Amino acid sequence: MDKDLAEQVAGIAQRVVASGAISANGHGNVSVRVPGEDEMYFTAGPSLRGHPASAVVRVGLDGALLEGDLPPIQGAVVAMHTAMYQDRPEVGCVLHTHSPYATAYAVAQRRIGCWIEAMAMFGLAEGVPVAGYGPRGSAEAVANIRGAVIPGVPAVLLANHGVLIFHRTPDLAILVGGVVEEAAQAGLNAVGLGGPVELPPDLRAAALQRAMAFDSQGTVHA
Ligand SMILES: [Zn+2]
Repeated sequence: MDKDLAEQVAGIAQRVVASGAISANGHGNVSVRVPGEDEMYFTAGPSLRGHPASAVVRVGLDGALLEGDLPPIQGAVVAMHTAMYQDRPEVGCVLHTHSPYATAYAVAQRRIGCWIEAMAMFGLAEGVPVAGYGPRGSAEAVANIRGAVIPGVPAVLLANHGVLIFHRTPDLAILVGGVVEEAAQAGLNAVGLGGPVELPPDLRAAALQRAMAFDSQGTVHA
């Protein structure tokens, strides 16, 4: 076990908790791809809250446990992590939570539309689709996830379960997890006001272009 990588994964779990995009019980899992290997490091603890590095396990992308102890509850969802690494060579981090507002949409089996600008800026211009229900981590659930994923969109809602984020880096995965939760909360708040209104598609591109233009300039100093 690479202790540094295990510490890194435990640190990512803490940052997910700190982001607030997490259910009260802290349920969820984080994994990172081992660079250059067909392996991932995965949180095998019952909660991301206070998750110790000692409970991080090493798992092959074929699902085989290579190092550490993997309890049944966490073992059941390994396949939805490995599938994202298998399908997408660029993915370096997979994050799964039951963040409350996103999970409300998952339970209602309703997609999250592009109704906050941050979605357009962070790869969610097409919204967050819903993968149909299957027992967590089962072949059926994984097939539903694969079928629902929109190319280039780093998130999917898991019907009657939660949310799955897959991105190049942990930073981006945590960021997108927060954007999805923020959008879900805003969407639900807007229901009482007639419902959320999606950005027109051409303005989604404009929002991204403006963000990129500012990003290319970097921080401006007085
Ligand atoms: Zn879950």
